Amino acid sequence: MSGDSPNEPKDSQSADVLIVGAGVAGLIAARELVKRNRSCLVLEARDRVGGRTLSQKLGKDWVDLGGQWIGPTQDRLAALARELDVPTFPQHHEGKKMLSWGGKISTFKGNMPWLSLATQLELGLLVLRAKSYAKQFPFDAPWQAPRATEWDGETVESWKRRHLWAGGSRLFLDIVTRAVFTSEPRDLSFLYFLSYVKSGHGLEMLTSIPGGAQESRFVGGAQKLSTRMAEALGNRVVLECPVWALEQSADGVNLETARGTFNGRYAIVAIPPLLAGRIRYASGLSPRREQLMARMPMGSCIKYVATYDRAFWREAGFSGEAFSDTGPTTTTFDDSSHDGSQPALVTFSDGAVARVWGDRPPEERRQAVLAELARFFGPQAAHPTGFVEKNWSEDPYSGGCYAGVMGPGVMTDCGPALRQPCGRIHWAGTETAVEWTGYIDGAIESGQRAAGEVAARLSE
Ligand code: FAD
Repeated sequence: MSGDSPNEPKDSQSADVLIVGAGVAGLIAARELVKRNRSCLVLEARDRVGGRTLSQKLGKDWVDLGGQWIGPTQDRLAALARELDVPTFPQHHEGKKMLSWGGKISTFKGNMPWLSLATQLELGLLVLRAKSYAKQFPFDAPWQAPRATEWDGETVESWKRRHLWAGGSRLFLDIVTRAVFTSEPRDLSFLYFLSYVKSGHGLEMLTSIPGGAQESRFVGGAQKLSTRMAEALGNRVVLECPVWALEQSADGVNLETARGTFNGRYAIVAIPPLLAGRIRYASGLSPRREQLMARMPMGSCIKYVATYDRAFWREAGFSGEAFSDTGPTTTTFDDSSHDGSQPALVTFSDGAVARVWGDRPPEERRQAVLAELARFFGPQAAHPTGFVEKNWSEDPYSGGCYAGVMGPGVMTDCGPALRQPCGRIHWAGTETAVEWTGYIDGAIESGQRAAGEVAARLSE
């Protein structure tokens, strides 16, 4: 590397800004800095870019083992996909859906299963309450809600037990919490739940296919966004370079990695708080930041994709969506390729179910997952042409997924530390996003914000 141009690193080990992590957030931060004529290096632990997006060839097509959907109001992601020429296509959703409750399967149309009048009333009230509560705090500071201490002092589980009485409404909240947060209602603070729902524009948006967060997918897989960004960044992206320690002085930062020491003026740490806490910081961080990193675990999720010769569920009038209150999987969707040439189903073990099934041998898990698909869609589901799984909790450079979550007390105690720089260290990653936190769109927002913060300081 020559270092002749201002946005090229001075040499292979130093640059204006060192970015930890080549997920979407880190790569976006690098692109923004390059656009502003600042030099940067992205230090990535794995031998690939994309982080929690991971696309793998299975049979004739690419399947996503990480993030895969894009929906309305995710404007940053839509703009990035257009710019990088990664087309999207609608998620298949036509047909009957299935719910297994207490082992009994029922079918339904529309967004909700048939539920008792009491359940419908309670759920309507839940949606209205979430909307009205969300109006009581700013997007970027949920801890400022007048009732923040009260809401952050209890879990979604305890709130559910006090406010929802119908079995169907409790089941709905359980299923939604597992599907959206990959966590149990007992794991999450109610304030955190409200702030996440607000960040994703409401419960209906988060849980819907048309008009919601599961509306469309990427042709060729979502990881393509990151591989395209990395191609353009060239040798600014350094793979197989886990960052172990970060030291800051009055002039700059030194990062100790598997590829030696890197020097910069500022660092952007673009990884989830849990993983940021595994880096050794020679000079102290704020106590709030330390607490945040110790108190924000990742959700638990195992994702499975099974491919088939025929979309037999569509032929039988089913959409491919299936929900269950027990394991081995909790939510299922059609995952066929964009041109329909490779029929597929995608299914998830979320929350406690992922923790239980994550301990089982892979072959036992595979058999159980296929038996579950067969229970919903018939015996053909037990005989896929291809099958792949990814347990994100056992991946040391994710530690779980979809995102870091907060239990009681964390948002009010540590929320302000999410984005607050510590000296020369700035924080990015989807967990730090104000809008669409936990999602790819939030990762983009966070990378743009952190790059803007650092660029402003470099110009001082
Ligand atoms: P990451 O992608 O986690 O990037 C962090 C990077 O840092 C990684 O590459 C990691 O290897 C690296 N790293 C970690 N530690 C170190 C270290 N010490 N040194 C150097 N590098 C390090 N979002 C959606 O929008 N739609 C979806 O449908 C969706 N579904 C999902 C399904 C699953 C199964 C998963 C896993 C995620 C899903 N998400 C979805 C979430 C979405 O993928 C993430 O929000 C987003 O990709 C996070 O990007 P990020 O850059 O913030 O973090």
